[in-house]
Amino acid sequence: MLLHTPTLLLVLLLGFALLGVQLWLTRSATLPRRELRPVEWLCWSSMTGFGFFLARDWMPSSIASLLGMLALAAGVTCFTAAVFQHVLQRLPPRAYWVLLGLMALPVLGSLAADGAVRVSVSCLVLALLLLPPTWVALRHGWHNEVSFRIVGGTLCVTVLGLLWRTLDAWWHPADYQDGQQDSLRAGLTFLFAFMGLLGSAFGFLLASFERVAQKMRRLASVDGLTGCFNHNTTQALFAHSLERARRERLPMSLLMLDLDHFKQVNDRYGHPVGDHVLREVAEAVRRCLRASDVFGRLGGEEFAVILPTGDDAGTRVLAERIRTAIERTDMRSDTGQVFHVTVSIGMAVIGPQLVLTPNEALHWADKALYQAKSQGRNRVVVADPWMLNTTIAEVPS
Ligand code: GH3
Ligand code: MG
Ligand code: MG
Repeated sequence: MLLHTPTLLLVLLLGFALLGVQLWLTRSATLPRRELRPVEWLCWSSMTGFGFFLARDWMPSSIASLLGMLALAAGVTCFTAAVFQHVLQRLPPRAYWVLLGLMALPVLGSLAADGAVRVSVSCLVLALLLLPPTWVALRHGWHNEVSFRIVGGTLCVTVLGLLWRTLDAWWHPADYQDGQQDSLRAGLTFLFAFMGLLGSAFGFLLASFERVAQKMRRLASVDGLTGCFNHNTTQALFAHSLERARRERLPMSLLMLDLDHFKQVNDRYGHPVGDHVLREVAEAVRRCLRASDVFGRLGGEEFAVILPTGDDAGTRVLAERIRTAIERTDMRSDTGQVFHVTVSIGMAVIGPQLVLTPNEALHWADKALYQAKSQGRNRVVVADPWMLNTTIAEVPS
């Protein structure tokens, strides 16, 4: 069996062109554009590179090879940058760019040599350029999105295919004289190397989509500003904990937190500083909690902490710890001015003898919170059974 090299070139050219056009057409869609643009460049560069290789019949072979090689190297470099950015959130280190510059020397040096030497040198250079992204994809990217493993795997195939082609051109130079001989081995090495690269580009697309999907799923249950559970998730988890505590005849506790005079923080320092304060407060609370506790943002500057097995004494200690942690956290304005915020906390311990719906329990803790506000703020008030059937007067500001 023989593999017709110009046909393989044409197939790869069309493959990269098709992927490039698809990426170009979906430019305006809500896809991660910044991340996918280098993959689009890989497609255009590879398409150009294979175009030059095909044009060897119409222009001097060494010039066509050089231009084709430069286009492929440019595409590989773009893809390397994309892999580094995706996995490590940074561009390749300076050493990579030095390597890229140094690789120009053997490529230029091989111009005067025969076709087999040119193929051998070019494939070795491309394999070396692809080693860093392959290492990053396998070592650091393996535990990212599951589909990113396709990138690691196919990059491995590409590097191995390129090294095989390097050696094959060295051992069987007759098959590589003008780069277009029909030969099974030469065709296979070519297929492995460049189909692998096309597969990596597709894998990268999948991994980008998987990342977006993960982010959206996270945002559906987590508050984007503070990283706490959002309102709906907190309510659902609370209902679940309440039911479980009732069945197991154990007490559970709920803390309702509301920052004091938070409107003044926004008015004095601006909304972005207010957002920063909310993030810092969330961080301070999180540091006081155990992994089994649930911490949610109910809205605005109101938070809830659910202790699935919290008893009275333990919850009092925790509530006080949270209150002092927030009070002691240094907040900074845009001008570097340090200020502090305080929090009022309503605490409710729902013992097994109390049969409350989630809404009744939340309302009960809310009443204790309003008591804390009316008693002067920056304090913890424990919900009393008498609060269950009373209305609390308006909080003075
Ligand atoms: P009190 O001690 O009675 O709780 O007073 P307060 O000022 O904290 O309460 P109020 O309900 O009057 O104001 C809440 C403020 O929280 C108003 C709103 O501007 C601010 N806020 C709500 N959500 C956000 C947010 O996501 N970011 C910022 N920066 N501010 C927010
Ligand atoms: Mg409030
Ligand atoms: Mg408030």
